Amino acid sequence: MRTTNKSYTGIDCFRMIAAILIIAIHTSPLGTYSEWGDFILTRVIARIAVPFFFMTSGFFLISRYSNQAERLRVYMKKTALIYGAAIMLYIPLNIYNGYFRMENLLPNMIKDIVFDGTLYHLWYLPASLVGGAIAWVLVRKIGFHRAFAVAAVLYLIGLFGDSYYGLIEKVPVLGGFYTLWFQVSDYTRNGIFFAPVFFLLGGWIADAQTRLRQTAASTLCVVMLFSMLAEGSILHYFQLQRHDSMYLFLVPCMYFLFQALLYFRGKRHVWLRDVSLLVYMIHPMMIVVVRLAAKVLHLQTLLVENSAVHFLAVVVTSVSFSVFAEAFWQRFGSGRKEQHKGADRAYIEINLDNLTHNVQVLCEAMPPECALMAVVKAQAYGHGMYEIATHLDRIGVRAFAAATVDEGIMLRRFGIRGEILILGYTQPERARELRKYDLSQTLVDYDYACRLNAQGVHVKAHIKLDTGMHRLGFWVPMDSSAGKEVQKLSRVFAMKNLMINGIFTHLCVADSLDGNDVLFTRQQIARFYKILNRLKKQGIHIPKIHIQSSYGLLNYPELKCDYVRVGISLYGVLSTPDAQTKLHLDLRPVLSLKAQIVLVRNIKAGERVGYGRAFVADRDSRIAIVSIGYADGFSRILSGKGQNVLIDGQPAPIVGRICMDQLAVDVTKLSDVCVGMIVTLIGRDGNEEITAPAVAEQTDSITNELLSRIGMRVMVTAVDSGYCSDRTSSHVGIRTGS
Ligand SMILES: *Cc1c(COP(=O)(O)O)cnc(C)c1O
Repeated sequence: MRTTNKSYTGIDCFRMIAAILIIAIHTSPLGTYSEWGDFILTRVIARIAVPFFFMTSGFFLISRYSNQAERLRVYMKKTALIYGAAIMLYIPLNIYNGYFRMENLLPNMIKDIVFDGTLYHLWYLPASLVGGAIAWVLVRKIGFHRAFAVAAVLYLIGLFGDSYYGLIEKVPVLGGFYTLWFQVSDYTRNGIFFAPVFFLLGGWIADAQTRLRQTAASTLCVVMLFSMLAEGSILHYFQLQRHDSMYLFLVPCMYFLFQALLYFRGKRHVWLRDVSLLVYMIHPMMIVVVRLAAKVLHLQTLLVENSAVHFLAVVVTSVSFSVFAEAFWQRFGSGRKEQHKGADRAYIEINLDNLTHNVQVLCEAMPPECALMAVVKAQAYGHGMYEIATHLDRIGVRAFAAATVDEGIMLRRFGIRGEILILGYTQPERARELRKYDLSQTLVDYDYACRLNAQGVHVKAHIKLDTGMHRLGFWVPMDSSAGKEVQKLSRVFAMKNLMINGIFTHLCVADSLDGNDVLFTRQQIARFYKILNRLKKQGIHIPKIHIQSSYGLLNYPELKCDYVRVGISLYGVLSTPDAQTKLHLDLRPVLSLKAQIVLVRNIKAGERVGYGRAFVADRDSRIAIVSIGYADGFSRILSGKGQNVLIDGQPAPIVGRICMDQLAVDVTKLSDVCVGMIVTLIGRDGNEEITAPAVAEQTDSITNELLSRIGMRVMVTAVDSGYCSDRTSSHVGIRTGS
């Protein structure tokens, strides 16, 4: 998934500031001038640098949503590689410092590699590994709120081993704990106590739907920074600090700083990520270089003894080296590859703002006590289940319906909360999975309920009643044998392994306003309530009820149920172009289908194009070949019907037979058509629009089929006015299939 929104400029640029602050920590620029000033700058203010890097990693990594189980692994591998390289880089320096001559070398080395870093600043990398993994696992297992509580406790433990150590040192048991801990690691500012909270905050900000206002964020950031200065000064004055990385006010300060940075929008500077990392990695080396140079040039008084000049010299050498290395890498190395592979062929664009709008409009049309159950089966009607479901979850939808148990499991793995109803048949043997992923299973008839119950696993279920569609569901005849069937139903309620929290039916002609069809639908509804009444008379507590799908809502809005199962209308379209409905809602299409022109050729009058030579040019023509075919869901039935596509806001007809992966368009009437231009097959381009229902009608089918058949190899591109939905791909360069 990617968006066209780029709003990480602030983050990109602050990386550089953070890297320079870290150089300050290690060179004390104000040391020559003021001890107090140096403390404030390097022991308090500069302490925001490392948490900022943790938060940035968290922002791109930690989410309650994920469609890539391997994302954590990719991050861990990359960080471990960088750490390995850094360790190697500093071996000479460690030899020179006599590191390998220390006593108990092996235990100390293990301690350093795991917690403290093999050179003073390298602790950041193992802390990123440990902290990132802890945050990831916590969020996936217990959600953000509880994860944050755990991380906050860890941070507090760390705090008392750091800036607040003086308060706890002498306390019997507690002091003992820290004495013990300091055998394991020299500090508490590490991957366990320090990093997780910042990883979580980063991810939290990225996942959140709402953001602080710019003025609020900046003001609060400044207030917190000053509070931290006060905190640091007091702790310093009373000499309570064992170390000075962790402050109470550091956490809120970072939170507001990050929020404020998100308001700096503009061009992205991804290269600053590499440059700041390089500065961070090599600056200790540059300290050595500056000192050596000073010795050789007899400039020690200026370059080393004057702390400010020393700092500047290290900054200039580190930054120049890093910029040069990055430029060299871009020029001669493999560089940064274009990450949006796949969009060069066929892709769908989903408009998440329209999805939000549709949810609002549909909810307004429903009775107030009723909840929207989003039907996201079949890759959310071809829109991409991950993008659709996570967005719905984000905006507060708490009930979903899928067709199969595997879709349900997929939803849970994505991080979807709330009720997930499996509408179709699930083998009873898979009861354990239903339970494990907390899915509700539709009971398709009495036999099925018995078999599922017999699995001995407690599962949630909704009973489906057949009221005339004769597809899935319990059939209760309305004659003398009804009693027997109602008995069976009440037995299902009593089954000890089934927790019945829903009962529903499905309408089969709710889309029609024809008199007979309306009559039939009313009978279906009446039948449903009749059965419920009989169950009530048996003393059964009626669980949540639901009847309507999209057309059920649009044509029978007066029904008062607990859920409406909306599918097609959620995606902003109806099944047919001429749909007659009682309610007219302002629904907006979510999906556009697009592809690229890969070749433009001229042909002479009389020449033919494509399989079967089905198209004959009646004049000299220009033909554009477009990279989409029936395997992408653009049906071959649309061949030879003069179906248009849109290029540069103008219609142009498809000619010849649609192939599996390509189709041809006659662009003779269009000027300036060239390779790489975007072709809209469904959606709007300029003033022209091709709607999905109209295309579906051309295929003698309904929108539902057209959309749900959009192929797996069509990439999903999400567009919204939010600010963070492209982090999935931008961080690790993995894109999501539809
Ligand atoms: C697919 C499905 C829906 C959604 O129907 P739409 O017409 O797309 O809103 C609702 N209920 C059941 C049982 C379904 O299978």
